[in-house]
Amino acid sequence: MANGKRDYYEVLGVSRDASADEIKKAYRKLALQHHPDHNDEPGSEEKFKELSEAYGVLSDPEKRVRYDRGGFEGLDGVSFEDIFGGINFGDIFGGARAGGSVFDDLFGFGRRRGPAGGMSVQVQVRVPLKTILTGGEEKIKYNRTQTCSVCEGSGAKPGTEPISCEECGGAGQKVFTSQQQGMVFQQVAVCEVCQGLGTIIEDPCTDCRGTGSVEQETEIEIKIPPGVDEGTALRVPGHGNLSTQPGGPPGDLIVVINTEDDPRFERRGYHLQRTENISISDAVLGIKLDVPTLLGDVEVKVPPGTQPGTIMRLANEGLPNYGSGRRGDIYLNIQVEIPKKPSKEERKIFEQLQELHEKK
Ligand SMILES: [Zn+2]
Ligand SMILES: [Zn+2]
Repeated sequence: MANGKRDYYEVLGVSRDASADEIKKAYRKLALQHHPDHNDEPGSEEKFKELSEAYGVLSDPEKRVRYDRGGFEGLDGVSFEDIFGGINFGDIFGGARAGGSVFDDLFGFGRRRGPAGGMSVQVQVRVPLKTILTGGEEKIKYNRTQTCSVCEGSGAKPGTEPISCEECGGAGQKVFTSQQQGMVFQQVAVCEVCQGLGTIIEDPCTDCRGTGSVEQETEIEIKIPPGVDEGTALRVPGHGNLSTQPGGPPGDLIVVINTEDDPRFERRGYHLQRTENISISDAVLGIKLDVPTLLGDVEVKVPPGTQPGTIMRLANEGLPNYGSGRRGDIYLNIQVEIPKKPSKEERKIFEQLQELHEKK
């Protein structure tokens, strides 16, 4: 990574504790302004690249953490392809105008020569609040296509081998030559007999029906960054499906983070919310409550005369704000339970209270 670059947060005009959503909005707005399709001004292409690089890093939880900790040096070893490859331009710019072709032209990596890569696999993982607090590892089980172990990926029944395609002589493509006005034109086309593979399987493997790959359950452990936002997608390169073309790279695994339901709290960004029900007498006289936090119970004093709907704040007991690491709060929503069926004894006391009030 070159020196003399502007800070990524500055480039996007967002604060260091900006949420994933704020970062996306800022990028979308600026990128549309400087998109080379809309802007002929000199330098707009450079500007657009700068914006996209900043977004590529800050929209990826792992890269953002690395950048926050170590600046540009923290991203050593991360290639431009890593950075831009993770951006979902369809999501940013919408639909067909996904910017894919524009980006391929701009960055020159999209039109990779050689066989096409495998499909990405997307899975959702439910992460407990405690892990979101501290960061940690989550085991994920998912299905992906893997090399068929019976035929070792050849697609041919064990004991047999794929044979070379006669039509193209094993090249997978055919060259047509034509002559027009004294000039020789050559046209290359994919061989339709072997579909470009160069080989034909006469006796297919029964386990994979000749495809050379089978879908199998696999397990992977992925790192959960502390404070990761709901809905964040983490990309694990190379852990998706196998390519259907020989020599093609496997696709990526995309892990979408969801917060696991927790009966104690509701997640609101990096704050947590909880409802505490107390009795009328507790509301009038005050009470000490044992309230759960992510790191064990704490004692909370509800003062005498607390009104229903009062919000009490347990500062810094929430989740870390992704990026800044500053912790959010737990909000206690105090509700007062009005007895629907008071006992005889309770009824007596309430009647006495009523009389008292009437005398006032
Ligand atoms: Zn097989
Ligand atoms: Zn062929």
